[in-house]
Amino acid sequence: MTLEAQPYGIARECAHILPSGNRCAQFARKHQPFCRAHAGVHRRQQNEEVWNVIQSIPEMDLVTLTALLQDTIVNLRAKTMPPLHAETVTAHILTRLESIEGTLEEVLIASE
Ligand SMILES: [Zn+2]
Repeated sequence: MTLEAQPYGIARECAHILPSGNRCAQFARKHQPFCRAHAGVHRRQQNEEVWNVIQSIPEMDLVTLTALLQDTIVNLRAKTMPPLHAETVTAHILTRLESIEGTLEEVLIASE
């Protein structure tokens, strides 16, 4: 089974894990991984997680940024991250990479 096997649009069960540890038995909303009841809560949690990640990007080093970029692409492909979140995180990663590149150039120029 590939990641492509369950595209959005095919009726499937909600991905929300209930406090009991079982998965919610409702059908997911069209084009969404969650049912109507869990879409809101999940979206708020996802939003908070992405917000926290974005806040920490300016302090990240190259290795951490690379790992985050990889995670973002994997989540985007697995459709576990909304494309707009992935786009926003990627934009912040690129800004941070440009800043690191600028710092490296300054160091190289200073050492010449
Ligand atoms: Zn649900």
